[in-house]
Amino acid sequence: MSENFALMLPDEPVPVRLMNTIWADRAGVHDALRTADELRAWLRAIGEDADGDASIDRRDVETFRSLRDALRRLAALLTEDSRQAAASPTEDVEQAVADVNQAVTRATTWPQLSMQDGRLRRWSTGTESVVARSLSAIAEEAVDLFTGPDQERLRACYAPGCVLYFVKDHPRREWCSTACGNRVRAARHYRRHRS
Ligand SMILES: [Zn+2]
Repeated sequence: MSENFALMLPDEPVPVRLMNTIWADRAGVHDALRTADELRAWLRAIGEDADGDASIDRRDVETFRSLRDALRRLAALLTEDSRQAAASPTEDVEQAVADVNQAVTRATTWPQLSMQDGRLRRWSTGTESVVARSLSAIAEEAVDLFTGPDQERLRACYAPGCVLYFVKDHPRREWCSTACGNRVRAARHYRRHRS
């Protein structure tokens, strides 16, 4: 498991961060969500306190992977993604839509108030486990992402070998990261000097 996957594009919306648990380097495409420990680490990276949730099991991992693959399929549709290496194992768009909808209904959450240091704070609780609530919340956020104003800003990164997605939050942003931008510039430089 890569140490840096949790840090990969940490400013993207959480559904995009879930999509980006499929990532690539020179050795090829990697999946950062294969085990319960990896799911726990990922949840920690997005700020969910799932450490006390000892019940994370194989099925939770499968549910998250299934949502992830559905999101990647729909992101591919929206971005007209032609990257072979990034193709989701979920090919059917209707299936992907059904998977997202299913995930939304996995738990119900509601906001709560608490007093902390004399100030009112918002937190949320709900039915089911932290893991199921996270899944449900991410799926709901994905519905908003895919249908709201960010829909048109969603991009596939076309730097060589990259399989990540990002939300273009700046008119001049072309790549998912400065690392990808640097690799593209280096490749152009190399090509210029070779010819
Ligand atoms: Zn990239």
